[in-house]
Amino acid sequence: MPPPDQPDVILIGGGIMSAHLGAMLRCLDPRLSIHVYEAGAALARESSDGWNNAGTGHAGLCELNYTPPPARPGAPVDIAKAVEIFARFEQSKAFWSYAAARGLAPHPAAFIRRLPHLSFARGEAAVAFLRARFAALSVHPFFCRMAFSTEREVIRRWAPLLVEGRNAEPIAATRSEDGTDVNFGELSRQLLAWLGAQEDCRVFTAHRVTRLRRAHAGWDVTVQAATSGESRGVRARFVFVGAGGGTLPLLQTTGLPVAQGLGAFPIAGQWLVCDHPAVVDRHFAKVYGPPPPDSGALGGPHLDARQLHGQRVLLFGPFATWTTKFLHHTGRASDLPYSLRPHNLGTLLRTGLHNRVLVRFLVQQATQRMADRLHALREFYPAARAEDWRLVDAGIRVQALKRADAGRLSFGTEVVTAPDGSLAALLGASPGASISAPIALQVIRTCFPDRLRTPAGQARMKAMIPSYDVALPDAVAHYDPLAYDRGNLLGLHPPA
Ligand SMILES: Cc1cc2nc3c(=O)[nH]c(=O)nc-3n(C[C@H](O)[C@H](O)[C@H](O)COP(=O)(O)OP(=O)(O)OC[C@H]3O[C@@H](n4cnc5c(N)ncnc54)[C@H](O)[C@@H]3O)c2cc1C
Repeated sequence: MPPPDQPDVILIGGGIMSAHLGAMLRCLDPRLSIHVYEAGAALARESSDGWNNAGTGHAGLCELNYTPPPARPGAPVDIAKAVEIFARFEQSKAFWSYAAARGLAPHPAAFIRRLPHLSFARGEAAVAFLRARFAALSVHPFFCRMAFSTEREVIRRWAPLLVEGRNAEPIAATRSEDGTDVNFGELSRQLLAWLGAQEDCRVFTAHRVTRLRRAHAGWDVTVQAATSGESRGVRARFVFVGAGGGTLPLLQTTGLPVAQGLGAFPIAGQWLVCDHPAVVDRHFAKVYGPPPPDSGALGGPHLDARQLHGQRVLLFGPFATWTTKFLHHTGRASDLPYSLRPHNLGTLLRTGLHNRVLVRFLVQQATQRMADRLHALREFYPAARAEDWRLVDAGIRVQALKRADAGRLSFGTEVVTAPDGSLAALLGASPGASISAPIALQVIRTCFPDRLRTPAGQARMKAMIPSYDVALPDAVAHYDPLAYDRGNLLGLHPPA
């Protein structure tokens, strides 16, 4: 057994990604000793916190950015990305069912609930697109229970706020009963509480990792305790950098080639929030609109019913705003300037030049007034009253900018690894938390392939994610939501 300061695995960051990787690795190999170091005073208070993200279980049901409008008018809508995200979210749900049943995340009602997902369109062109999207999706087994309507009375039944006080413009909506609202912060805390209670595993809060240096076999990790200010060294054979906005600065200390030319740009989010019972009690859905034309792949605005720490609220947004911090609680205004290096300045400048439309959109977002935000809200909820809504901060998306992308922005989530598999890091922001189980699986495949070679390892992984070794076409062919007993476990039984 290794001494306490030499665990097998170190996970940096106490968010949803480390929580998944830690729990999955320990289930796969119960002999692994694992340490988690979180810089903040509490776990999962950055992007994974319930207030800092939208809590949408991304499954392509309502988010229009997974089905871009066709380049040619009349061409079918491409649903490939929606199908892929649906399948990956199924893998996360499978792992959460396992976690609930085995006591890793014993209180599923506190982190996941069923909530209809709607897409909403206004005006002739948008309605025509939503109809075409529905035509393409509804013939696929994943989306065959989706409903479409242009009838105001039907849409009023689905989401009354969308119709109340609206003029005569054409509108349309799709609705999926199978949507979810997920409190990723709560889920992270449940998983990490379980992990910290396992033999030879420890979860430290208020411990910031400040440096990563190559060791003979693995990495020397410098950890600083917030209370004493003292630093100490810990050595591990494998390190996962799941530090969200803190990932780039740590990667830059590794000397790995993957960090060369890598830059990052933070985009902070804000929500309009309403907790007025007369409004909150009349909206029970997540309603997504089309992304604004200039917004790249940042995603569209949405009006969400949320339940956070027992409080029922509506959130509308997110609105982008300007920051130079990479993290809310433990970040500093100097994060962005301190991340600049001669080798990544070109990457940042090239990205800015290639994405002038997006830069203009971000400037417009950051300079808007409350009246502009309410105007955006009234496109969804025309009768919204200013006095019912207030502005709160959401999470910070730290967009990774890679030299190899030559200025193009890829908004996805990406795992980068050391060539010898001794270190993995997560870059990017979206779709993020919803695919934390397949991301952990990807890290395990790349960095712990031996654990998946034995029949025992394969059986353990199969128990956690039954489709872990199933190719997408087979996952589609075998999809049967009514035979899905794990839906039962999560309280997500599909409607009869
Ligand atoms: C506005 C917004 C809306 C979103 N909506 C959704 C959504 O609806 N659905 C969805 O699936 N995803 C959504 N996301 C994305 C999702 O929130 C993130 O992908 C996910 O939470 C990232 O988890 P993480 O564990 O990688 O990072 P985080 O949750 O940020 O955790 C990283 C942790 O690392 C710690 N840390 C940082 N540096 C150090 C260090 N040096 N040493 C020790 N600890 C450190 C931080 O304090 C933090 O606790 C949204 C994001 C934003 C910003």
